[in-house]
Amino acid sequence: MPFDFDAAIHKQYDIVPLDPSFIPSKEVAKPHILWVGCSDSLTLETFTLAISQEEVFVHRNLGNILSNGDLSSESAVAWAVELLKVEHIVVCGHYGCALTKSDDPKALYGWSKDITRLHKMNDEFLGKFKDKYDERYREHRLEEIYTLAEAGWLRRQPIVKKAIQERGLQIHAFVYDRETNSAVRLVEIDDGKREI
Ligand SMILES: [Zn+2]
Repeated sequence: MPFDFDAAIHKQYDIVPLDPSFIPSKEVAKPHILWVGCSDSLTLETFTLAISQEEVFVHRNLGNILSNGDLSSESAVAWAVELLKVEHIVVCGHYGCALTKSDDPKALYGWSKDITRLHKMNDEFLGKFKDKYDERYREHRLEEIYTLAEAGWLRRQPIVKKAIQERGLQIHAFVYDRETNSAVRLVEIDDGKREI
């Protein structure tokens, strides 16, 4: 199971403006952050975090997906966690991502089938509150719960889990907003305020 759909749809979280100095620059030419972003995003990790290029190892794919079990993503995570020993992993989605708007076309061979499923579940869930939420809210929420689900999935992977326990690796979920040219941080509400 790629991630827990039911938990994703019922996730409670806070949306906090991202301070670009949230992960401070170490001013060294060595990556201490793994950035997982969407290929079609205009998000610049160096701008979003006010860090230099040398400090970040970047992995991008269609929809910032890690939970598909593809070799490229797995290798990037293994490289960053076990060899570079990064201290932070950022999963950064973005509002308006085309992948969260459309059904999974055949040409994608099921690449985004989980997002499509989450999309339907999100619509059903919010359907109960139709009058309260507009389309923009539904789309934003989908991107948020999806990014949180990917970050949550990552936390449960054995090498990541081990690094969290042994050396304090931190996993963060961000969503970038092109309209405001800024990002937010998603903080899960769960027994206190534990950031996922
Ligand atoms: Zn995208």
